[in-house]
Amino acid sequence: MTGTLEGRVALVTGAASGIGLATALRLAREGATVVAADIDPAGLDRHPELHRLTLDVSNEAHWIAAAAQLRDRFGGLDVLVNNAGIVLAPQPVTAVGLDDWQRLMRVNVDGVFLGTKHMLPLLRESGGGSLINVSSIAGIRPSANAAAYAASKGAVRLFTKAVALECAAAGDGVRVNSVHPGLVETPIWDDLIPPAPGRKTTLEALAARDVPLGRLGRAEEIAAGILWLASDASSYMTGGELVLDGGRAIG
Ligand code: NAD
Repeated sequence: MTGTLEGRVALVTGAASGIGLATALRLAREGATVVAADIDPAGLDRHPELHRLTLDVSNEAHWIAAAAQLRDRFGGLDVLVNNAGIVLAPQPVTAVGLDDWQRLMRVNVDGVFLGTKHMLPLLRESGGGSLINVSSIAGIRPSANAAAYAASKGAVRLFTKAVALECAAAGDGVRVNSVHPGLVETPIWDDLIPPAPGRKTTLEALAARDVPLGRLGRAEEIAAGILWLASDASSYMTGGELVLDGGRAIG
């Protein structure tokens, strides 16, 4: 696909790194005007080719300001990718502090809710856009020692379906789907497995053991799926789940 998003405006959260960055760059390559939003302005500054917006997804005032800016500067919004997310260090549920639980929920769940709440009116005004929420394989098949993350990603998965039904009933033309990456090599793993020298080897060993395709996913492979959901090629899909996990969910 090239030029499939010509004339469209897309907002991607968590766009300074990993899957969000790969998505922002891919959508821009397909002709979209991309607003790359992240809480980390220094990370965004490494990509001057994107329109950059410092935004904390868990802060409602930031979303209200972002909606006004999209209307004024870009004339609206056609694609929203709610991608920003965080993890906690692996630990049994009895060890999870309430403050950590709430911090995770604020980003992973409140962030998706607030983005949807404040951007859906713009998508509707554009006459039918695409809203894509990045959940995880953990929202389908949870792992031990990651209960908070699984709960947050399960919430995103069902929230997506509920909003898809609202949009379909309203006949607003907005499609709402979730994406479920498996093991993808991005900096998010820095919080789980200490960085180099052993990190890549540990991750690759995990993938060799748990993923039927036998390897880690690349952020660009997830971005390709998000591009498909953003484009008219997926026009008959709403409330659906795009699982991009090398077969992990069934393996
Ligand atoms: P990453 O750590 O590389 O990127 C996450 C980005 O989100 C960072 O740039 C960070 O600054 C930003 N961010 C964090 N908190 C934010 C906030 N409050 N407001 C705005 N931005 C914020 O991680 P990634 O692997 O690219 O993860 C992207 C999404 O994919 C997440 O939702 C994650 O849960 C999901 N996911 C990742 C994997 C994987 O294996 N990498 C697997 C399944 C799901």
